[in-house]
Amino acid sequence: MDKVDTIIVGAGVVGLAIAAQLSQFQKNVLLIEKNSTFGEETSSRNSEVIHAGIYYPQHSLKAELCIAGKNKLYEYCVQRHIPFKRLGKLLVAHNQDEEAYLQQTINQAKLNGVDDLELFSAKQLNKLEPALSATAALHSPSTGIIDVHSYMQSLLAEAENNQAMFVAQTKLLRAEPNAHGFTVTLDSQGETSQLACQYLINCAGLHSQKVANNIAGLATQYIPQLHCCRGHYFSYSGKSPFSQLIYPIPQGNGLGIHASLDMGGQLKFGPDTQYIDELEYGVAANLKPKFLKAIQKYFPSIDPEKLQPAYSGIRPKLQAEYDSFKDFVIQDQQVHGLIGLINLFGIDSPGLTSSLAIAEQVVKKLI
Ligand SMILES: Cc1cc2nc3c(=O)[nH]c(=O)nc-3n(C[C@H](O)[C@H](O)[C@H](O)COP(=O)(O)OP(=O)(O)OC[C@H]3O[C@@H](n4cnc5c(N)ncnc54)[C@H](O)[C@@H]3O)c2cc1C
Repeated sequence: MDKVDTIIVGAGVVGLAIAAQLSQFQKNVLLIEKNSTFGEETSSRNSEVIHAGIYYPQHSLKAELCIAGKNKLYEYCVQRHIPFKRLGKLLVAHNQDEEAYLQQTINQAKLNGVDDLELFSAKQLNKLEPALSATAALHSPSTGIIDVHSYMQSLLAEAENNQAMFVAQTKLLRAEPNAHGFTVTLDSQGETSQLACQYLINCAGLHSQKVANNIAGLATQYIPQLHCCRGHYFSYSGKSPFSQLIYPIPQGNGLGIHASLDMGGQLKFGPDTQYIDELEYGVAANLKPKFLKAIQKYFPSIDPEKLQPAYSGIRPKLQAEYDSFKDFVIQDQQVHGLIGLINLFGIDSPGLTSSLAIAEQVVKKLI
């Protein structure tokens, strides 16, 4: 049977970042992807925002990996010529309660080590963003946007340059532990084959739980329940009235329907939150009134005709609809007892921002 050092399951932004970094130390890294190419799922269905790391609880993986990942990602973009813009973001308030939330956010951000937030008055905002309606706002200068496709392409090129192999249309069916690692059964377009590896990394996003359930000897108590939460986007045609990202106060399990720009300057609004049972990406036109109501709060002169359903993404959450905060889960043998296995669960936002820091943490466990 052929043998490799490591099999990485899932070529989203996380699997690609792990492949790029791990291949600096191992010569036989295999990255497999069930779809026809890399990054077709959550990694290409998000806001493409580089988050500052201001909301997450202190010492959580989300706080630590987001901030470390943000700094690494900006450096990476410069080094590898990935299109990005440090546009900045405004977190906007509309009443005294929301203004109090801005103050709490300043404190939370400071605890997390982010101390560049600045409070703007309505008068300052009027000058800065005339189309914006708000009584006050927090300005986060380290928030930005990135061309995720170019980023993923660059990670893959880096991995392949280090001799890592990438195989698409290849799905992990099951894995069985043995004395030297794992025997893995793969399905490549209907053809089944077996391969041995010393290390197995499960970063299959929305399918991490399914992959984990197919690893013999992994006790089900270590497989957290998946909650799929879809977020829809509407695009806004014409020139953007805003020069930076506009976020309302976060609500429930999402950051609220915000305004963000892509690298081409296209304005979009979203995502909302909708817990779903099936992985289905449709954007119903009848969501428009809900979007309009949320957006009009901070952009009263919005032209409803310019708002059109665009796309959706599905968050692989560990948090049920009315649960409180749930962190990323990165499990190694110290947790589940299977030598050589690393499972990643619940890599929802800010997984893109954190990707290089997540990869570094995973690689440290293996070398
Ligand atoms: C609506 C939305 C908005 C978001 N906005 C942001 C944002 O602005 N900033 C930010 O930092 N984060 C954001 N995120 C989070 C971010 O997109 C994710 O954290 C990140 O893309 C996760 O990457 P991943 O590699 O873990 O997963 P994925 O991109 O889902 O990749 C997993 C891959 O594994 C493959 N796979 C699954 N099973 C198998 C198998 N058995 N065999 C082989 N391959 C398999 C899948 O096909 C998939 O390609 C957002 C997420 C959503 C849903």
